[in-house]
Amino acid sequence: MHLLMIGGSDAGISAALRARELDPGADVTVVVADAYPNFSICGIPYYLSGEVGHWQNLAHRTIADLEAAGMGLRLDTTARRIDVADRKLLVTSPGGAEEVLGYDKLIVGTGAVPVRPPIGGLAGPDALGADDGVHLLHSMGDTFAVMRTLETTAPASAVIVGGGYIGLEMADALTVRGLAVTQMEQLEEVLPTVDPQLGALVHAEMTGHGVEVLTGTTVQAITRAAAGQVGRLEVQATEADGTPVTRPADMVLVVVGVRPDTALAAGAGATLGFKGAIAVDEKMRTNLPDVFAAGDCVVTHHRLLGQTYLPLGTTAHKQGRVAGENALGGNRRFAGSLGTQVVKIFDQAAARTGLRDHEATAAGLDPVTVGSEADDHKAYYPGSHRIAMRVTGDRTTGQLLGLQLFGHKHAEIAKRIDIAAAAIFHHMAVDAISDLDLSYTPPLGSPWEAVQMGAQAWTRETRQR
Ligand SMILES: Cc1cc2nc3c(=O)[nH]c(=O)nc-3n(C[C@H](O)[C@H](O)[C@H](O)COP(=O)(O)OP(=O)(O)OC[C@H]3O[C@@H](n4cnc5c(N)ncnc54)[C@H](O)[C@@H]3O)c2cc1C
Repeated sequence: MHLLMIGGSDAGISAALRARELDPGADVTVVVADAYPNFSICGIPYYLSGEVGHWQNLAHRTIADLEAAGMGLRLDTTARRIDVADRKLLVTSPGGAEEVLGYDKLIVGTGAVPVRPPIGGLAGPDALGADDGVHLLHSMGDTFAVMRTLETTAPASAVIVGGGYIGLEMADALTVRGLAVTQMEQLEEVLPTVDPQLGALVHAEMTGHGVEVLTGTTVQAITRAAAGQVGRLEVQATEADGTPVTRPADMVLVVVGVRPDTALAAGAGATLGFKGAIAVDEKMRTNLPDVFAAGDCVVTHHRLLGQTYLPLGTTAHKQGRVAGENALGGNRRFAGSLGTQVVKIFDQAAARTGLRDHEATAAGLDPVTVGSEADDHKAYYPGSHRIAMRVTGDRTTGQLLGLQLFGHKHAEIAKRIDIAAAAIFHHMAVDAISDLDLSYTPPLGSPWEAVQMGAQAWTRETRQR
């Protein structure tokens, strides 16, 4: 059995590792367009901030580790065409020569590419790029380009276009590095994946650390600065009412989301689904015989929403593992995502799982969201922090639908959101959260865990409505 994976990031490598784990005799080859298999691109901001000392430390596993696990790596090798009928893959090798690789089962893990928004200066023959200090950020190659700008031009200021989680992490990172950062977000609040009430707390944390945050601000163009102007670049934007805003900057980072990289699979006849991602079933099978797909290039099965597109590293790992198992003839299903995520912003963290009101309403549910606060541990023990919570439950069924949290980075926000993720996964009612037997000692918690107090606030409030 010869398994061939395209893509050496979370999905492709998880598939290869699982296949080798289940069948140490399986012949597994991973084709990777660059020379950086199994890198934690989620850690890029912490390398760029200087908190992670060397880029090599971002490797989940070294090349030697991967080879020791029994997979063959074809680095700097780009897959060009899938011949489904003959089960062959045409690739371009590092020297540029074309080569044909045969397979019994193929797993496509081509991931996503950063969105290049329609901003003047980003496209066309005179487009600004890394040499001008204008960057997109997704791969290790992008990371090296940003580091080159930081090290060789010593920028004093940066504009970050986009206030999603990667934009926020990079605002934190560049501030830690000593740059003056302006963040521009076209929506009404930063971190639009949480309710604006929590987004406003994130906003305040950014401002408190010296980041200039301009919300409701749409970037129109990036240009080279005129001679004698401050900064190498100028960013031109408009506020919601049309008022023009300009900022000088030595570098600009454009991080406004990703789109699935599907050209290869689509060229072979793969059906595309939600947001143009590759359509797969719960076993990660595409419509093409013997071709599986996983990670940021595929649609996401959501436990509450059905099909959506929610590109996350955690999901890519799970889907890759399922694809690797099933490519060997297994019968594993991807159980579905809840969109559980957490982000650190300076000294705080924000997290969410499940649905917010508008998402639940669109799914035909009857949501109510109740905001509350609780201490992360008994307030009499030094170092306690308040946690802001927003619990979403279904008014009709009482089922827990979602939780959003904001609190200090040492307030166990990530693990607390996971309590709710586990509860939603198992279809628990909001009221039943109080029955969970959770741990307690005053320096670390309270007899009623914060999430249980949030659930009780929801139950109290909805009973009165
Ligand atoms: C800065 C940053 C921070 C992030 N932080 C988080 C986080 O905190 N938590 C979280 O859950 N997620 C996070 N993510 C998202 C997460 O990294 C992705 O969801 C995950 O990496 C997707 O993995 P993937 O294998 O599907 O695709 P990708 O990581 O996009 O990798 C695609 C792979 O395919 C290869 N490839 C593509 N085309 C070809 C071809 N034709 N031939 C050969 N090889 C090819 C590429 O070289 C690459 O190896 C972050 C992403 C970024 C950029």
